[in-house]
Amino acid sequence: MTAPLIDPFARAITYLRVSVTDRCDFRCVYCMSENMTFLPKKELLTLEELDRMCSTFIGLGVQKLRITGGEPLVRRDIMTFFRGMTRHLDSGALKELTLTTNGSQLEKHAQALFDAGVRRVNVSLDTLDEAKFAEVTRWGRLPQVLRGIDAAQAAGLRVKINAVALKDFNEDELFSMTQWCAARGIDLTWIEVMPMGDIGNENRLGQYWSLKDVRKAYEGGYQVTDLAERTGGPARYVRLEDTGQQIGFITPLSHNFCESCNRVRLTCTGELYMCLGQEDMADLRAPLRDHPDTEAPLQDAIRAAISLKPKGHDFDYSRQSVDGQMTRHMSHTGG
Ligand code: SAM
Ligand code: SF4
Repeated sequence: MTAPLIDPFARAITYLRVSVTDRCDFRCVYCMSENMTFLPKKELLTLEELDRMCSTFIGLGVQKLRITGGEPLVRRDIMTFFRGMTRHLDSGALKELTLTTNGSQLEKHAQALFDAGVRRVNVSLDTLDEAKFAEVTRWGRLPQVLRGIDAAQAAGLRVKINAVALKDFNEDELFSMTQWCAARGIDLTWIEVMPMGDIGNENRLGQYWSLKDVRKAYEGGYQVTDLAERTGGPARYVRLEDTGQQIGFITPLSHNFCESCNRVRLTCTGELYMCLGQEDMADLRAPLRDHPDTEAPLQDAIRAAISLKPKGHDFDYSRQSVDGQMTRHMSHTGG
């Protein structure tokens, strides 16, 4: 029996997020600059390497895999990878296979995702206004995403919407987005904007809408009850008593919950980031490529990396400046 992955702070690492591409068909203003330079394709792990990498993590006790990016569904043949992971769901080693997507390609892939064993998807959607959607994603079109959400629900996938809380942008849509989700049986989670990567001329502090204020705004329209429920992740939940709806808050800035962090992140080039908000990483591509026939060097590299997982991140917007700024983009590490 292989020993599970335990970090220096006694946290069991059971959750791996995998960025399968840094490319995307959108250019969200808080995530990318309009003119992004993407990695040369040869830098990326091949689909076979991604399979081997994920399978090794699963062999070491990872039970939950979230596929992300960039936009995971724009990677060519990505369904081959999803279908490959089905064997780990079937064996029981993997408890959940899921993805975070902008929804643009969901109409095409929803059924295949369900058939591969995916049961839940997170769709990122910051506004229900077509013009504002085009503005915030630069290249995205709302109707295409809404068709994707419909297709996902029709295929039997449970949808959660992740919305980045953006000052002066979607503040006025708090209630309308909440009602829209309630009418469709969709969960909703708000995220604070994080200082990840150069985003051109956009102003981070100007974008930041604290979720403390979002919660207060909810109290203006609903009876709000805090819930004890935790999913091992950074989200905390409230229930809106009027609708019975559960709303999540991911608050890396106004409140951080690193002490219960159970996750690590693999980039599309095979770097393992032990924390989204720190620069420390381990190269897993070399042990993977240098030893095609034996797992031991890769397993050793993973264990060595986990033994360096830091206690938490240093993001901070206090003192009216942005501290803990990361040079890499969210699309590189995988949001
Ligand atoms: N393209 C997919 C999507 O948009 O869902 C997956 C990758 S995207 C990087 C994952 C999540 O990160 C999205 O929900 C997005 O809104 C969020 N995100 C990107 N940049 C962010 C930032 N600077 N702060 C907070 N969330 C961010
Ligand atoms: Fe693409 Fe997702 Fe980043 Fe938007 S948030 S640019 S959809 S990777």
